[in-house]
Amino acid sequence: MKAEEILKKLSLKEKIALCSGEDFWHTKDLSQYGLPAMMMCDGPHGLRCQKGETDMLGVNKSAPATCFPTAALTACSWDEDLIGQVGKAIALEARAMDVGMILGPGANIKRDPLCGRNFEYFSEDPYLSGKLAAAFIQGAQETGVATSLKHFALNNQEYKRFNGNSQADWRTMREIFLAPFEIAVKEGKPAAVMCAYNKLNGVHCSDSKGLLTNVLRRQWGFDGLVVTDWGAMNDRIAAMKAGCDLSMPGGSDYMEKELEETVRDGRLQEADIDQCVLRVLRLMEKARAALAGGSTCDTDTNHALAGKAAAESAVLLKNEDAILPLREDAKIALIGTMAEKPRYQGAGSSHINPIKLVSAKEAMPQAVYAPGCMENGNTDENLLHEAVRIAKKADTAVVFAGLTDAYESEGFDREDLQMPQGHVRMIEAVAQANPNTVVVLCCGSVVECPWADRVKGILYLGLAGQACGEAAKDVLYGTVNPSGKLAQTWPYVYEDTPTAGYYRHCKDPQYREGIYVGYRYFDKANVPVRWPFGYGLSYTKFSYSDLVVKDSQVTFSVKNTGDRTGAEVAQLYIAAPQDGLHRPVKELKGFCKVFLVPGEEKRVSIKLNDRSFALWNGKWTVPGGTYQVFICSDSQTVQLAGSIRKEGLCISAPAWQSGSWYESPMGSPTQAQWEALYGKQKDPKSHRKGTFTMDHTLAEMQEHSSLMRAMGWGMRQVFTIHSGGKKAKDSPELRMLIASSFDAPLRSLQLNGGIKGGLMKGLRCMANGRVGRGILVMLGKEKEKCK
Ligand code: BGC
Repeated sequence: MKAEEILKKLSLKEKIALCSGEDFWHTKDLSQYGLPAMMMCDGPHGLRCQKGETDMLGVNKSAPATCFPTAALTACSWDEDLIGQVGKAIALEARAMDVGMILGPGANIKRDPLCGRNFEYFSEDPYLSGKLAAAFIQGAQETGVATSLKHFALNNQEYKRFNGNSQADWRTMREIFLAPFEIAVKEGKPAAVMCAYNKLNGVHCSDSKGLLTNVLRRQWGFDGLVVTDWGAMNDRIAAMKAGCDLSMPGGSDYMEKELEETVRDGRLQEADIDQCVLRVLRLMEKARAALAGGSTCDTDTNHALAGKAAAESAVLLKNEDAILPLREDAKIALIGTMAEKPRYQGAGSSHINPIKLVSAKEAMPQAVYAPGCMENGNTDENLLHEAVRIAKKADTAVVFAGLTDAYESEGFDREDLQMPQGHVRMIEAVAQANPNTVVVLCCGSVVECPWADRVKGILYLGLAGQACGEAAKDVLYGTVNPSGKLAQTWPYVYEDTPTAGYYRHCKDPQYREGIYVGYRYFDKANVPVRWPFGYGLSYTKFSYSDLVVKDSQVTFSVKNTGDRTGAEVAQLYIAAPQDGLHRPVKELKGFCKVFLVPGEEKRVSIKLNDRSFALWNGKWTVPGGTYQVFICSDSQTVQLAGSIRKEGLCISAPAWQSGSWYESPMGSPTQAQWEALYGKQKDPKSHRKGTFTMDHTLAEMQEHSSLMRAMGWGMRQVFTIHSGGKKAKDSPELRMLIASSFDAPLRSLQLNGGIKGGLMKGLRCMANGRVGRGILVMLGKEKEKCK
């Protein structure tokens, strides 16, 4: 039966019920109409398919699946085809496990290097993020399995992620934070988009008609389903009107009665609900078709692909005296626990139970190994002594270091960009013992590298997935010629970033830096960086020539002038005239990865369009003038330059611009500087006894309610015992559990806990000082609204 016909058969109650899941991972079951429940699973880097105990934090086990490198690494491949292959492989595994929709990819911008979830996102640049997300979606959806692009929108920190209020002006949103979603939606055509937890300029993403209907559906032409992030539904009535279709997870009855009453008393049209229902039904139809007949997948092939993706994305950051590739017969000392117990994925909802795991130690059995440090990142004299001893005897020492699990995770942000002290001491001791030292960095985001001048080689391996050891070996020995380029700027120190003055521990983030995110800031402020956006070395050399810029068609040649087969990522940046409304020095508007055998030359052609030159000024507008076209090998190295004249409007600068931070940025902008751009900041919402709503969190209520403090204490004890006692205190799982419970609004706790009835509303009454009423509400003897 077709979706439209099924719709006609459903009662209002059934329709409302269909707009939330059945349980943690499934839609409702409509087998009576030929539509079985559809299962959805994280995630972006492999499947987290839980058939037993469920959770959204990656705490309980999931079925074994191939663990691919995380997006922070695959983005460095700048290879849409490769990312499409990864998407397809994950979708085929999904099909084999009867999963109809993958919850990913994540297209959020890496706004600040401290974001705990940066390992899951592609880039600081909207064009690169959007193109790569689109490639993943296309690859995955080729199989019929749906994808859900996430987290829409302005979800760029983990601190207070459930109910923070992201505040940004429209230009910043359109040019930077919405742009990757726009590209991914228009080009990738995901079956679904996941709305984020946070508020956007005061409105919850789930309730935002501006975001979900005006921007996403009307302006970008999205015709798929909007699903909430897990527990992100705020007001179901507003959300229905906004075009938010499916509330996940299911199991609770959050606001179902209110929704029904609202339709019965005419404040909401049944037609609004029908639209959402139809979109749920259509997605289930797609899943039924995709999963019909089942499928199998070859996990060995997928393991090989995971290794290939890691090797082709790894970034060679330093290669003094051509220390790499290693000679086959060289004596190698392999140092660092991460060479034996790899850090290959991040913690949280994208956490995968890998089918197998190959460490560098296993992949390089000929090397002599010493741990050099402990698993928690500390070291001691004995460990250092042994590392130095084997380093001295080796031709080359290869040190694996980076960030341990406790540093990087969904659910909380990093405190700084430092590596564990034990890793730094280990690198320094080894480098002193052997001048031929190479560091392999295993981390999902930027770290400070004060030791960089003391070693000869540095290879960024990111979080490289289950075949990380083989990938490391292939690049270190030159079986694969590194061709990755950074998708994120590496500053010298955190304090060099524009957000350093206000990002940390801010519940209601002010996007004060405006459009000056990543290299857009470092370029404009002339702040030197350790490695620029787009940077990466190769074992061969490339030359660029013969640039022709004609009618928005840019062509040039790239030649491999070295003696090894390799690939070069040629990057096209546009530099706009600087005489009107402030603009970045240059912006990425095209790229191409060119594969070349020694001596080979290829002609590359990149097409530009009006958007390549436009800024957001209430609408996309191209200011007239002469634009520079730069073909670069990284964002700071121009290989070829041309120009193009665009007819267009003259957009004069607003009065506040002259002399402002946005014209000549340096350091962090102040609140007053930002308010000139954004408008006056409203006083943040107060939380006092008597004013608590379902949007308040346990942490907020604890400040004013002894009952909540007692409850919080009890919960902490239970979580700590559950996670293995005091020794687990730094584990990312425990930190995530605590943050996700104490910082989640009551409504999210109800949704994620699958709680029915008045328990949460009763708690709210009690926190507001109405204990007796709270008990009656909990017992169902009194009614309370959610608001
Ligand atoms: C995460 C999502 C994830 C969902 C389900 C949420 O906490 O933010 O990315 O898809 O959980 O696990």
